[in-house]
Amino acid sequence: MSQAKDNPLLDTSKLPRFSAIRAEHVVPALSTVLRENREKLEELVNDEQIPTWDNLIRPLELMEERLDRVWSPVSHLNSVVNNPDLREAYNTCLADLSAYSTELGQNSRLYEAFVEIEKREGPKLDTARSKLLENSLRDFRLAGVHLDLEKKARFKKVQQDLAALAARFEENVLDATNAFQKHITDQGMLAGLPEPTVARAREAALKQGQEGWLLSLDYPNYHAVLSYADREELRREFYTAWATRASDQGPDAGRWDNSEVIEDTLRLRHEVAQLLDYPNYAALSLATKMAKSTEQVLEFLEDLARRSHDIARLQVQELETLAGHTLEAWDLMYFAEKLKRERFQISDEILKSYFPVEKVLDGIFEVAQRLYGIHLAPREGVETWHEDVRYIDVLDAKGAPRGGLFMDLYARKNKRGGAWMDDCINRNGMQKPVQHPVAHLVCNFNPPTESHPSLLTHDDVVTLFHEFGHTLHHLLTVVDVPGVAGIHGVPWDAVELPSQFMENFAWQEEALPLISSHFQTGEPLPIDLFERLKGSRQFMGAMHMLRQLEFALFDMRLHSEYEPSLGGRVLEVIEQVRSEVSVITPPAFNRFSHSFSHVFAGGYAAGYYSYKWAEVLAADAFSAFEEQGIFNPEVAERMRSRILSLGGSVDAMEAFIAFRGRAPSLEPLLRQTGIESKAAAA
Ligand SMILES: [Zn+2]
Repeated sequence: MSQAKDNPLLDTSKLPRFSAIRAEHVVPALSTVLRENREKLEELVNDEQIPTWDNLIRPLELMEERLDRVWSPVSHLNSVVNNPDLREAYNTCLADLSAYSTELGQNSRLYEAFVEIEKREGPKLDTARSKLLENSLRDFRLAGVHLDLEKKARFKKVQQDLAALAARFEENVLDATNAFQKHITDQGMLAGLPEPTVARAREAALKQGQEGWLLSLDYPNYHAVLSYADREELRREFYTAWATRASDQGPDAGRWDNSEVIEDTLRLRHEVAQLLDYPNYAALSLATKMAKSTEQVLEFLEDLARRSHDIARLQVQELETLAGHTLEAWDLMYFAEKLKRERFQISDEILKSYFPVEKVLDGIFEVAQRLYGIHLAPREGVETWHEDVRYIDVLDAKGAPRGGLFMDLYARKNKRGGAWMDDCINRNGMQKPVQHPVAHLVCNFNPPTESHPSLLTHDDVVTLFHEFGHTLHHLLTVVDVPGVAGIHGVPWDAVELPSQFMENFAWQEEALPLISSHFQTGEPLPIDLFERLKGSRQFMGAMHMLRQLEFALFDMRLHSEYEPSLGGRVLEVIEQVRSEVSVITPPAFNRFSHSFSHVFAGGYAAGYYSYKWAEVLAADAFSAFEEQGIFNPEVAERMRSRILSLGGSVDAMEAFIAFRGRAPSLEPLLRQTGIESKAAAA
C-alpha cells in the first residue's frame, strides 16, 4: 500500500509529476493498474445484472482512462528523455500491455454483454456513446472474438508471425543500408555536394584510418548526392544502391532479400482477412477508415493521377530542357534542385532570420485566438522533465480553463527525432468536475545560442503549425466520452485533416506580420521574398503528386488483388501501376517495394493513400476560408463546432459534409499544388 502511495505515476489527480517519475516507478505502477483493471473486469463480467452502458461500459471507459493516465507519462518520457533503465522498463511493459489488450479484445463474455447493450439501449444512446459502442463492437470482431477456439489460435499465431515478418523486413532494410559504403579518393567526385556532407564523409574516413572520404547510404547522404552531386556516375551509383536495398538486385543482390518476407506477409495478411470474413486485406484495412471501399480509393487515386499527368509531363520536359538530354531516374532530383535554385533564389539561411521561435509562437497563438476565441497563456512553475519545456494554459473567451499544453521544442540528446503531438490527458466529461485535456507538442528545432534566439526555417514553421493543428483537435473537444474525444476514434485517413489544414496559415500573406519579424531589425518577411517562397511551394507539384500516387496505388492494388494461387505478383503490379501513372520509367532493377517500410513494417498497409486523402480534405476545408477570408468568424466557428470539437464521436465524412456543405472536392488540392490552374492554361 505505502509503495503504491509513493509512486508518482499512480497519482493522477493533477498534471503528471514529471520531475518525480523514475524508471523504477514504471513496472510497479503498470502492474498495479493492470491488476486492478483485471479484478474489476472479472467483477463486471460476473455481475448478475442486465448489462447497461452505465453499469458496464462507463466503468470500462474509466478503467481505460486510468490506464492511459498512468501510461501516457511513461511513453512520453521514454521518447523525450530516454535512458537505458527507462527503456528497459518501458519495453517490459509493452508486452504486458499488448497481452492485456488482446485479453480484452477476445473476451467473449464482454463482447456478448456489448451486443446485449446494443440491442437494448442502442437507439437511445447519444451520438458519442453510440459511436463508442459501434467502434467497440467492430474492434471486438477485428480481434477475432467471434471465432471458434481453433480459428482463434490460428488468428493469434498469424498475428505473431506477421509481427515477426515486419521486424525482419525492417532489419533487412537496415542491414542492407548499413552495408553500403562509397570510398572516394578523387576529390572531383565530390563536386557539388554541400559542405556538411563532405565534412561528415571526411570524418568517417578518418575514423576508419582511410584516405579521402567515406559516404554511407543514410538518407541525408542519399538525398545530398541525388540532389547536388555534379558527377552523374556518383548519382547513378547511389540511386542503384538505394533503389535495390534488401532485394535480388544491386550491389548486394540476394544478401538481405525481402522478396520472401513480402510474399509471406501478403499471404498471411490475406489469411487474416479471410478469417475475419473480409474478401482481402484491403477491405479489412478499410473497415476502420473513412474511405468506404477499395473501389472508392482506387478511383480517388486514379482521378488525381489523370489530372496531374499532363502537368507532370511538362515538368519533366522543363527539366530535360535544362539538362539538355533525356533524364534518367538519378537525374530527376539533381536537375529539379538546380531549376529551383535558379527560379526562386531563396535560402533557408535568409528566411530563418525572420522566424525567431517566440515570434512564431505568438503568431500561432494569435491565429488560434482569432479563429476559435481561445487564449493561450504560459504558466510558470509547472513540473516538467527538462528546463526548456514550457506549459501553456488554454482558456476560453470568458477566461475559463479549457486545458493545457506542454511544449518541448528543441533537439537534444536522448530525445526521439521528428515532431509530433501526443495526448497527455484526455477530456473526460463522464465525471465531475470535468477533466480537461492536456497535449504534448514536441519538435526538434535548433536551440537558441548565446548570440541569437532559436531561428526556424520555413519548413519548421510549417511543422509547428501542423502539430499545433493536431493540438487544437485534442484541446477543443467537447465530447464527454474519452474513447471518442479529441483525436481518439478518428479514422487514420482523417486524422491529418486538422493538422494539414493549419499548415496553410504558414503560407498566407495576412498571417505574415503575425508570425515573422527579423530577429535583429524586427521587420516582417518582405513581400517579394514571401512571393518567391510561395512559388516554391508548388514547384514540381505534379511530379511529386504522381510519385505519391504511384506508391499509394501499388499498395492498394497489391492488397486488394491478392489471389492465393497467384501469389503477390509484386513486380507485375508495380509495372501495371507505372504504365498508368509514371512520367519517367525507372530502370528495371528498381525494387522500391523491398524497402517500403510504411507498408511492410509500419501501419500503412492498404493505407498509404491516407496521406493524399487527408491532404484533399485539408485543402478543401481551407478553401472555405479562402472564399470567405482566412479569419472569417463564421467559417471558423463551423470548423470548430462541426469538426474539431466532435473528434471521433461522429462519422468523419458526415462531419466534413456538415462543415463544407458538400462532399470533398479534389480541386482545392490541385490548385494548391499548382496543377489545376496550369492545367487550364495548357
Ligand atoms: Zn500529423
